[in-house]
Parts: sequence; C-alpha cells; structure tokens
Amino acid sequence: VAIAVTRERREGETRCAVTPETVKKLIALGATVTVEAGTGLGSSIPDADYVAAGAVVKPDTRAVLDGADIVLKVRGPTAQETSALKPGAVVIAMLDAYRDKATVDALAGANATAFAMEFVPRITRAQVMDVLSSQANLAGYRAVIEAAYAYGKGFPMMMTAAGTVAAAKVFIMGVGVAGLQAIATARRLGAVVTATDVRPATKEQVESLGAKFLAVEDEEFKNAQTAGGYAKPMSAEYQAKQADLTASHVVKQDIVITTALIPGRAAPVLLTAAHVASMKPGSVIIDLAVEAGGNVEGSKLNEVVTTANGVTIVGWSNLPGRIAADASALYARNLTAFVGLLIKDGGLALDLEDEILKAAVVTDGGAVVHEGLKGTH
Ligand code: NAD
Repeated sequence: VAIAVTRERREGETRCAVTPETVKKLIALGATVTVEAGTGLGSSIPDADYVAAGAVVKPDTRAVLDGADIVLKVRGPTAQETSALKPGAVVIAMLDAYRDKATVDALAGANATAFAMEFVPRITRAQVMDVLSSQANLAGYRAVIEAAYAYGKGFPMMMTAAGTVAAAKVFIMGVGVAGLQAIATARRLGAVVTATDVRPATKEQVESLGAKFLAVEDEEFKNAQTAGGYAKPMSAEYQAKQADLTASHVVKQDIVITTALIPGRAAPVLLTAAHVASMKPGSVIIDLAVEAGGNVEGSKLNEVVTTANGVTIVGWSNLPGRIAADASALYARNLTAFVGLLIKDGGLALDLEDEILKAAVVTDGGAVVHEGLKGTH
C-alpha cells in the first residue's frame, strides 16, 4: 500500500499528518510512505527525520501523489492536489465536510474514497482515532496560554516584599474537552477558576478539577444533554436566565474563555456586547467558538479586538496549530490508528460496513455518500 503525505496548503495550517513515529508504524503495517519536502517544518520536523524513519521525501507534490493508494492530510486537499489523485485513491483528513462543500464535491468528482476524521464516531473502539478530542484538548490548553499572554497581570497570587499580587479570576464557559483542559491549565497557573455549562454532567467534572461550578440549574438544565453526550440548543427563556447569571459574574472576572458549541448549528452567544462593556479594563476574552460564529459579540475571526472599555477579545482560529508539534503528534497517531482499519495483511481492504468507516466515509465511487451531506450536493 502506497501512502502519500503532502504539505498543508491551507492558510495558517502549521500541523502535519505524519511524524517520524507514525511513519515507522505505517511501514510496520506493510505500507510505503512518501512525504512531500517541508511537510513537517511547522511542527519542527526536518525532512531528514522522515527519511531516517523510512519514508521517501520528494520535492514535487504531483510526484508524491502519483500512484498513491492512501493520502493523509490535516485539512482537505486543494483542487490541484485532488486533480493529481489516481481514481479510487483513499483520502483521509479533517475535511470540514459540512462547510467545505467544494472540496467534498471535488473528491467525489475525482472518484476518491474520502474519509472525514471529524465524523469518526465517539465510541470506545474509536477513542484512539478521536481527532476532535485530541485537538480540542490542546486548544483548551493553548487558550489559557493566549489569555495569559494578552493579560497584563499575573495568574498566580504572589506574596512579595513589595506587596501581594492578586490571583487572576478565570471563567470558563462551556466545559467539553477544551473547557476541561482550560480549567486544569488555568488552575496549574494559579488562577481562581469558575466554569459553566448547560449539561448537568459537567458539574462534577468541574468540581473534581478544583473549580467552582456556576449555572442556571432549572428543569431544562436537567435535560440539556442529548443521548450522544452533546448539548441541546437552549430555549430563549433559559438563555435569558443564563445571560442574567453571566452578567453578575463577568464584571468580577479577569479572563473569560468561551468554548460552547452545538453540533450542526451556529455557536450560542454567551457574552453579549453589554456583558463585554461591563468588564474591567485589561480583562481578556478568548473565543474558541469564533469559527462557528462565536460565543462573544464583537469577536472577529483571526483578529485581536480591543473594545472601547479596554477589553481584549482574542479570536484566533486553529489554536491547535499554535501548539503544532504536539497537535501533529497526536493527530498523526489518530490517523495511523484509522489507517490500521484499512490495511489487512499488508494490502488495502476497505470494509465500508465497519461502523467507524461507515460513519466517516464522505465520498465513494464518484458520489457523495455520507447521509448528513446527501441532498446538499
Ligand atoms: P462541544 O465542543 O460540542 O461543546 C463544548 C461545550 O459547550 C459542551 O460541554 C457543551 O455542553 C457546551 N455548551 C453548549 N451550549 C452551551 C451553552 N448555551 N452554555 C454553556 N455551555 C454550552 O463538546 P465536546 O468537547 O465535543 O464534548 C461533548 C461531549 O462529548 C462531552 O460529553 C464529552 O465528554 C463527550 N466526549 C466523549 C468522547 C468519547 O466517548 N469517546 C470523547 C470526547 C468527548
């Protein structure tokens, strides 16, 4: 099985889909691995390290893709890359398939069998392939680092001869994978941390990390978690109560990190312009949901905004890309585990009835085959 990996070409993408460690694992599965020169540079991996691990490094994208059975990427291939695929090639990436229809259509047109890693189901057997978790965890960590960097004061309480420096107050809104890591990271830096979510199960998780839980805990809250473990969109009444609770809390906070998402919908607005206007000058907001429309009124994609009252709102997309070496290492392991499902006895063996592959396959046999995407193409 010939596996190819090309350099990421999407704006700002620093991660890569294989590391020397996973090159060795892929070769052990019976594959050959060809990597485009420069693939690992954003993750501090020189070409020579791929060669030392057993890969062939080529400078030319088309030469890398020529004859490849499986193509591994972080983000969807460009139109040029897709045009260089052989018919029936397997492409595995975070395709952002709901939003990036052009790439999905191009892959179908090229007769590729494309898998979207973001569609891998969150079942126990697939945990090792869960890119949403591996990347969200790092995003939660990095969000706190970005906040600490933008904040003009320290996080821990420090008692010095010149007097005491107060601990920062950090509020985390949305306590999924990213939010939990943000709580843990802010605590490690010495902040006083509070957190909120609409799913009741998060209360215990927040408290077990040493943070204080704060939420409107009414009847609707008790039923806010779907069978799949995600949040439901909340009613206007609930959102109004939530906004009141937020209003009295955020005036006292130094840092707010928002991570709230609802699958398949725009992110809920948790901090209104009025909330932001009520915050102290020098306070910092990190909006992790900015790509999904944002949790914060006034946050701007890939911009740092300073409001009239001196609040900094950070809207970086791709926070995992700001911790690229670790993000690539974990992503590459997720991918390698997935590839393990496709190779049997050293040969390509696609069983599209496998629960994981069935959930993740987006295009096959020249068509868009994913249930969630049919009719939209
Ligand atoms: P996510 O990224 O979809 O959302 C982030 C958080 O925002 C969630 O906790 C959600 O409840 C919260 N949220 C939504 N609307 C909100 C609102 N109005 N106010 C406050 N918070 C709001 O979540 P995620 O990180 O993908 O995690 C979702 C679930 O999946 C969790 O239960 C998690 O434990 C579970 N999970 C399971 C597995 C597995 O079994 N393999 C792996 C990872 C995560």
